[in-house]
Amino acid sequence: MTAWRIPTFDDVKAARKRIEGIAHVTPVLTSRTADAQVGAQLFFKAENLQRGGAFKFRGAYNSIAALDASTRAGGVVAFSSGNHAQALAYAAKLLNIHSTIVMPNDAPDMKVAATKGYGADVVFYDRYTEDREAISRRVAVARGATLIPPYDYPDVIAGQGTAVLELFESVGELDLLVTPLGGGGLLSGSALAARALSPGCKVIGVEPEAGNDGQQSLDKGEIVRIPVPKSIADGALVTHVGEHNFPIMQANVDDIVTVSDAQLVATMRFFAERMKIIVEPTGCLAAAAILHGVIACSGRRVGIVLSGGNVDLATFAALIGER
Ligand SMILES: *Cc1c(COP(=O)(O)O)cnc(C)c1O
Repeated sequence: MTAWRIPTFDDVKAARKRIEGIAHVTPVLTSRTADAQVGAQLFFKAENLQRGGAFKFRGAYNSIAALDASTRAGGVVAFSSGNHAQALAYAAKLLNIHSTIVMPNDAPDMKVAATKGYGADVVFYDRYTEDREAISRRVAVARGATLIPPYDYPDVIAGQGTAVLELFESVGELDLLVTPLGGGGLLSGSALAARALSPGCKVIGVEPEAGNDGQQSLDKGEIVRIPVPKSIADGALVTHVGEHNFPIMQANVDDIVTVSDAQLVATMRFFAERMKIIVEPTGCLAAAAILHGVIACSGRRVGIVLSGGNVDLATFAALIGER
């Protein structure tokens, strides 16, 4: 385990060196239709086109690559049924080490198969009666492996910050940067990059309406815990932001707003129809807030992170089919 410390922009730069030539430098997309709709200049960082289909590959790969050789040889453990687990399994495979993923026994078959396909060992637990973090810690100790949490971990935060580092390098300074917010790995890493590379840029996180724990936390000045929220944004269903993430957010994030599931669906449809890309519900959080006027941005240069594209086609079709 890395010692408890708050990462800085230097860590983001170190992460970029580690992932260079391995993670994709994803494209920055633009849309005249979207620009005209909101009267601003929008730059979409397309992490739905990242390896593994989400920005999580950046933090996962960076975290393994940063371990010293003997620690790394013990392998890694993650708890998640989502993009972090798949990213970690994929990164472990590329770095030739063993991975164990602790997943709920009702995880979708497709996700289990994809994770096993990357060579990971899958350990199941009952999400209603068992504590996944406790199980993961036990597995890590028993196997001499390192637990890599999905967001509350310095090298994960630093790795996630590399997407926005690339965005500023390709488009220059911005007035506004908007990212999805779950546990805060993406938002806090992005905020570090924004502060360093575009000091005047406002940074805003977007949560699902049903789970605005991050917004409540910034308002209250301490981490607020909520019951597990219900939303189609399955990558942002956390009960609280991370302890490493929150101080970075307090220092560098200007605001947190929320969007509804209906706004996420309309945004998924917009991307499919107009920009010909598949963005998963959670990946639409930031764009939904801009395209629906939740964040005023008229006349501004705005960076928007499309965080992922992992949604099975049947779910995607069912969601965008509803009118
Ligand atoms: C994990 C995830 C998020 C939320 O990221 P955090 O670092 O937990 O805030 C957003 N979008 C997608 C696609 C994700 O997989």
